[in-house]
Amino acid sequence: MNKHKEGEKIYSWIKHLFPICRSITGEGVRTTLKFLKKELNNIKIKSVSSGTKVFDWKVPYEWNIKSGYIEDDYGKKIVDFKKNNLHVVGYSTPINKLVSFSELNKHLFSLPKQPNAIPYVTSYYNETWGFCISHNKRKTLNKKKKYRVVINSTLKKGFLNYAELVIKGKEDKEILLSTYICHPSLANDNLSGPCVALAIAKWIKKKNRRYTYRIIFIPETIGSIVYISRHLSHLKKKVIAGFVITCIGDNNNYSYLPSRNGNTLSDRASKSALMYNVKNFKTYSFLDRGSDERQFCSPNVDLPICSIMRSKYHEYSEYHTSEDDLKFISSEGLQGGFDILKKTLEIIEFNYIYKAKFPCEPQLGKYKLYPKMSIKDNYAESKNLINFLAHCDGKNDLIEISNKINVNPIDLIELSSKLFKLNLIVKIKKKLL
Ligand code: ZN
Repeated sequence: MNKHKEGEKIYSWIKHLFPICRSITGEGVRTTLKFLKKELNNIKIKSVSSGTKVFDWKVPYEWNIKSGYIEDDYGKKIVDFKKNNLHVVGYSTPINKLVSFSELNKHLFSLPKQPNAIPYVTSYYNETWGFCISHNKRKTLNKKKKYRVVINSTLKKGFLNYAELVIKGKEDKEILLSTYICHPSLANDNLSGPCVALAIAKWIKKKNRRYTYRIIFIPETIGSIVYISRHLSHLKKKVIAGFVITCIGDNNNYSYLPSRNGNTLSDRASKSALMYNVKNFKTYSFLDRGSDERQFCSPNVDLPICSIMRSKYHEYSEYHTSEDDLKFISSEGLQGGFDILKKTLEIIEFNYIYKAKFPCEPQLGKYKLYPKMSIKDNYAESKNLINFLAHCDGKNDLIEISNKINVNPIDLIELSSKLFKLNLIVKIKKKLL
């Protein structure tokens, strides 16, 4: 059996989307969203006009780019956007000018400590132009020469686009899954996020759901601010858990970044899923945040949003460079990310508070839940079941019981379903936040 079937599918989507030049607005975003719509036909693509005020922000102009390069006096291209879209600083204003080395040098970005990598640089809110170049190539430039810089871009009134998919469940309480679609050719940060979210969305659509799922594909920061500004009261009323899906495709670490509260249902389910289902994982602090949880967990919004990642943004050397490419991620890494998110969502779906029906232990043998013969070795098999039942006091939820009896919550899902079907426990709903 193929162990990484979903991982391979996710990898193939990433490979398809990788060459597209995305930014927080523009054609690259629309092409990416159209691809998602082809895969998830109920998804809705939304447009918000440049200049729209959202809280303390304004939707910026739309940016598009056709080409960009630096040429020497022999007409040889030093860097070319067509070879790697990281070469042009995101949101660069158009330019076509012969410049001295010293002027060019002020607009160049390179990483001396990673001399072969092209950095990823943007300037969304400060109009300028620039090129990103490997440090080794930068060192070959001749200080006495002039260079032609050409950026064929447009920055004008247009739209910010995002996509939203709501998958209704039996209950109207919602799980929010948010991911971003605004980076150019970068793999772990960024395409692993939307592509794992796409696989999760397909899985959710097929399953028997308790909760309603709201899955959004937005440009980072400005997109979450736009989305929150349009849906704040609904989100505050309905969302009981949620995740920012990002950096989830490499094969190195697992990481967990808590919500500001640190003990929401999302946090509890994440910690519980990771503890029992991956070899090890790193717990970060909310102070290490860096994606849309900054907005979702901000005061006045205060949603229960955290993150489960593989190698976290800012924490791996390939991050935001040309080295975060298709080789940095793998179908195995993506599969691991997909699996752990799936397990976390399963835990949330089954996180009921259970209460035993009878005083004292039920006679388990009657239900074929207990070995017929009482031999000391047999006891271990029923231990989890007896311990689980012992904590079904109408106060503990599944996650708490898992912590108390030290059993994988995924195993308790199966166990509790069995006991529920046998009418030995009842489910109690309580306010979940
Ligand atoms: Zn990023």
